[in-house]
Amino acid sequence: MKIARVSAYSVNPRLTLDILPKKLETTQGFTLVEIETDTGITGVGITGITDTNVVARVVERVGPGLKDMDPMMIEQIWDKLYWQLSPRGQTGVAQHAMAAIDIALWDIKGKALNEPIWRLLGGARSKVPLYVTFGFHFYDRDELTDAARAWVKRGFKRVKMTVADGALRNRDSKSITDQLKEDARRVKAVRDAVGDDIEIYVDANCNLDHYHALKIARAIEPYDISFLEEPITQNDARQMADLRRQVPIPLACGQNEGLAFRFRDLLVNQAIDFVQPNVCITGGFTQAQKIVGMASAFNVPFANGGGWPYENMHLVAGAANGTLVEFHYMATEACKSIFDGLPEPKDGFMQMPDKPGLGFTLNRDRLKEILDNPAGGRRG
Ligand SMILES: [Mg+2]
Repeated sequence: MKIARVSAYSVNPRLTLDILPKKLETTQGFTLVEIETDTGITGVGITGITDTNVVARVVERVGPGLKDMDPMMIEQIWDKLYWQLSPRGQTGVAQHAMAAIDIALWDIKGKALNEPIWRLLGGARSKVPLYVTFGFHFYDRDELTDAARAWVKRGFKRVKMTVADGALRNRDSKSITDQLKEDARRVKAVRDAVGDDIEIYVDANCNLDHYHALKIARAIEPYDISFLEEPITQNDARQMADLRRQVPIPLACGQNEGLAFRFRDLLVNQAIDFVQPNVCITGGFTQAQKIVGMASAFNVPFANGGGWPYENMHLVAGAANGTLVEFHYMATEACKSIFDGLPEPKDGFMQMPDKPGLGFTLNRDRLKEILDNPAGGRRG
């Protein structure tokens, strides 16, 4: 089998979030990569949380160089791309592109071997527990608590909300301290709304320095937080380790890290309770598998952060130290806009697919519809 063609698209579907009585219109962009082979087997991969057009361009630049390579020799392809795109250990856009390509290659490998990816990665469990990311900054406090109740009603026992939205970025125009006081009130409101039996996770999206991260951690400590994600800008390993010693809330991070050495530094510094490599960002299954293996040697579990559950569920189901998959409301709706056969959550869990590869298929008609819309994306 040989690679015949690599295509990339920047996709920006319009979404309707309908968990509340008042429907919200929004968008969630991502880069889609499709790899065709000379046997007719094709694979798809995605990446997000960066400029989707730039990543699509990078994939288009490197795609012709992969022509005629063996798609089953993924390490060889990964290594070639590493030296081409990030030869001095740079992280960033290059790793996003490599992640989407790597996922498409694993989709091909699964289809060629007639096995789902999670079984090829090790096969630790056939059903994965979910937490739902519902608590977006654009909800006011009443909408936030209504949404929390609505997700619990749908069977979710674990819910995640954001704090510190844009805090460091906007520090000249808005007091971080005032913002965090309101954030703490929002966390309390959610705890009061869902009761004591629901697990609450909080995500600061790297928006705080150590001083303010400690402040919000202490303020929300009474509300029994199951982990605090990306509390500190740049996932600073030394400051994360300090924070971990100062507060009892478990810490998690890593969804936007590009290379494995960053996780080594977090683990060696005893800076985290959960590592969070995201296969759509952290160099695909090939590198994420090495990171979770490294974490297992430190007796540290991993959890999906950064969304894209339909890809990341394979990693969590594949390795024994996998714990949770993030059912990120906007990411799941974005995937539903172009993929068929996605698994549905049931009672807070997702049953892993038996179908080969990723276990779902690209709907080309719907992709075309989105790309034909001037605001919907760009063809590769
Ligand atoms: Mg996150």
